[in-house]
Amino acid sequence: MTTKQFKAESKRLLDLMVNSIYTHKEIFLRELISNSSDAIDKIYYKALTDDSLSFEKDNYFIKIDIDKENRTLKVTDSGIGMTKDDLDENLGVIAKSGSFAFKKENEIKDGHDIIGQFGVGFYSAFMVADKVTVISKALGSDEAYKWESDGIEGYTIEPCDKDSVGTEIILKLKENTEDENYDEYLEEYRIKAIVKKYSDFVRYPIKMDVSERKLKEGSEEEYEDYLEEKVLNSMVPIWKKNKRVLTTEDYENFYSEKHYGFDKPIKYIHTSADGAVSYNAILYIPEKTPYDFYTKEYKKGLELYSNGVMIMEKCEDLLPDYFSFVKGIVDSEDLSLNISREILQHDRQLKLIAKNIKTKIKNELGKLIKNDREKYEEFYKSFGRQLKYGIYSDFGSNKDDLQDLLMFYSSKEKKMVTLDEYISRMPEEQKHIYYAAGDSIDRIEKSPQTELVLDKGYEILYFTEDVDEFAIKMLMNYKEKEFRSVSSGDLGIEENEKEATESNEENKELFTKMKDILGEKIKVVKASKRLKKHPVCLSNEGELSIEMEKILSAMPDNPNMKAEKVLEINTNHDVYVSLKDAMENDKDKLELYTNLLYNQALLIEGLPIADPVEFTNNICKIMK
Ligand code: ADP
Repeated sequence: MTTKQFKAESKRLLDLMVNSIYTHKEIFLRELISNSSDAIDKIYYKALTDDSLSFEKDNYFIKIDIDKENRTLKVTDSGIGMTKDDLDENLGVIAKSGSFAFKKENEIKDGHDIIGQFGVGFYSAFMVADKVTVISKALGSDEAYKWESDGIEGYTIEPCDKDSVGTEIILKLKENTEDENYDEYLEEYRIKAIVKKYSDFVRYPIKMDVSERKLKEGSEEEYEDYLEEKVLNSMVPIWKKNKRVLTTEDYENFYSEKHYGFDKPIKYIHTSADGAVSYNAILYIPEKTPYDFYTKEYKKGLELYSNGVMIMEKCEDLLPDYFSFVKGIVDSEDLSLNISREILQHDRQLKLIAKNIKTKIKNELGKLIKNDREKYEEFYKSFGRQLKYGIYSDFGSNKDDLQDLLMFYSSKEKKMVTLDEYISRMPEEQKHIYYAAGDSIDRIEKSPQTELVLDKGYEILYFTEDVDEFAIKMLMNYKEKEFRSVSSGDLGIEENEKEATESNEENKELFTKMKDILGEKIKVVKASKRLKKHPVCLSNEGELSIEMEKILSAMPDNPNMKAEKVLEINTNHDVYVSLKDAMENDKDKLELYTNLLYNQALLIEGLPIADPVEFTNNICKIMK
């Protein structure tokens, strides 16, 4: 007999699991059943490619046995079984995927997270049992082994007898405590209900000996009890059921059964098609961003079934990248079972399904904006960034699918608004859709560049995410209205246009001198069209904005692209008078003022100043 210790992190997790405040202890049964179902699936897949194996569906089952006297619950399956090594490897370590290390321990607040994310399914048995015995015989092996553990320190493995291939899992249930009733898992009605709730659509029969009562033979009033083996699950997959018989809870159970996420989906979409291609699908839009969503580890995809049989766990081709957060399953009769990944990619039917699904998701999200704004905003917080990437990538070819789903914070409404809503509020004379980019709403609100546009009573969209301005540059316009940054050279507001042009003529000498002082740091000095109260600001000419420059220079492979900066002077400000005075009377003073103003503009913009010491010295100089 081999006795082994659990790995340290497994112990920690087991401890969390066993003592977790997790309230749905009943899900242990779902986890065991789905392991059994997977084990049968494995034989099925093997048979597909191995001619010496045949798969007679009728020979495969899952069976639950209740033994009240011994307080045990047994789950038996005729699946692929486990060898000695399998038992050791599969049941000895929790979360060997390493994803556990990814999450800091204090982030794991309750057992739900753990079960959802790491698939420590089997271990959930220890929530209700203080001893678990696994007896298994692997396909193709003559030996059977028994694995046993109390779930605390370690486990033992020893040879044992077992006739048929498959696995038996025996749970010795815990004694009842004050707040916890474990006896209930010895009640037929309870087991029936749990199976129905979580495992109804498992493809193999889940059997149990159920007590029935019948009239004693020859008697007209005396009854006798007897046991009859019954199948507890309907075996019809949820996606093949009629929507009308399903409840939100059914969909939510399926979501967690499948480990799609540990949140509750914000929306489920149950859809089917019969036409050029026929399929059933259940799609989910999660509420929360999975912890690895914005990492390389995250893989998009939907489960793909061919007439009730899974052919691929994650079919990427069914989802565009910008909808990579969608989870779910697609079942189509039109796909062949043994189709290879390579062929599948080019499959015409699959492409058609993918296209339908994309449209469906888009439409449903659109409906959510109208019908349940709060939920949509919740969704947008989690995945809005992904939609914007979608606009930006593939050379903007997805614009039409995505632009109506965008939202930005509005200066006017003080909340998130859609582009359509923005347009509908535009006064007739307003030519463009104005936006301002910056680190935060607070910061943008205070930025001098917004002054004129706000003064005109126009609404500004605030771009606070890196991707925003890049996405909008790709979009260029929305419903024929062009996007315009509040710091762009041309705001399209005419009266100020004229005033500024005159002012530039008038101050040609001053602005040329200032430009000479600043040299290459800026492209030109101009009279501002947009400043009201502030003396100075930076704007840009050309496509690359100052915000974009900041983002690019923070990237690991800094492409070193610079915005063409314009130093704008407010000619209605007192500072302007001082500048003019300095130009006429004191060359050094003009240099001092110019540098000061330039550095101020950098600071407001959130850009670093090249020489902070010199800057502060200069301030002291004028204070003297
Ligand atoms: P998961 O199912 O998410 O991989 P589990 O902890 O539930 O995690 O199971 C670990 C592994 O143990 C499974 O991946 C499988 O290889 C094996 N296993 C568990 N139960 C069975 C079973 N009834 N028959 C065969 N193998 C099983």
